[in-house]
Amino acid sequence: MAFQLSPSSINLMFECEKCFWLQIVKKVRRPAGIFPSLPSGMDRILKQHFDRFAAKGKLPPELRDNEHTKGIALFSDMDALNVWRNNRKGLTYTDSGTGILLRGAVDNILTKDGKLIVLDYKTRGYPLKDDTHEHYASQMHLYNYLLKQNGHDTEDFALLLFYHPNTVTEAGEVIFNTDLIRMSSNAQEGEKIFQKAIGVLQGEEPDASNNCGFCEFRSNGN
Ligand code: SF4
Repeated sequence: MAFQLSPSSINLMFECEKCFWLQIVKKVRRPAGIFPSLPSGMDRILKQHFDRFAAKGKLPPELRDNEHTKGIALFSDMDALNVWRNNRKGLTYTDSGTGILLRGAVDNILTKDGKLIVLDYKTRGYPLKDDTHEHYASQMHLYNYLLKQNGHDTEDFALLLFYHPNTVTEAGEVIFNTDLIRMSSNAQEGEKIFQKAIGVLQGEEPDASNNCGFCEFRSNGN
């Protein structure tokens, strides 16, 4: 069966090509840690929150009156959006030469002058550092690439909406702060990343990353 990739599985390639190759080609995964359920719970209630505003044709307060959202609206084709944000369906593209499939599920889509913009929600424990958003660069390029390959015109940027806890009110409600970050999202970069991933998968098992303690542990016969 041809390999299936996602923006998050491709992200592993940037950490270590060997681990990426082992996961996709040999189905050998790194041991999974405890997966925090807070981000997926947040995604679920944010979806409901944003959909209420989409039905009214308005932007939610987190996006309103922001320099990055001038002239922007929530995407109103809910049938398409419900497919694109479904993890089992999502946006897909198959490389014709190898049959390798790329699948990515977005959180939400915005529109401006007929062009589509990816909006991704991120939940974190602390306020942002200057480079926090850079960890999501390849994910945003790949989403843009998927939209383009599915025939959509896209803007050359994506918006990341970060939620991080601020305080607890006397009534016990947890208040989150939000930060909206605009970052580059380029279909050509997405294509380069996808092709690089295909190249790695078609090659021999790559060398291990030389600053990873796991492989050192293994090679010492532990
Ligand atoms: S070096 Fe680390 S990240 Fe790379 S294959 Fe070994 S265990 Fe995985």
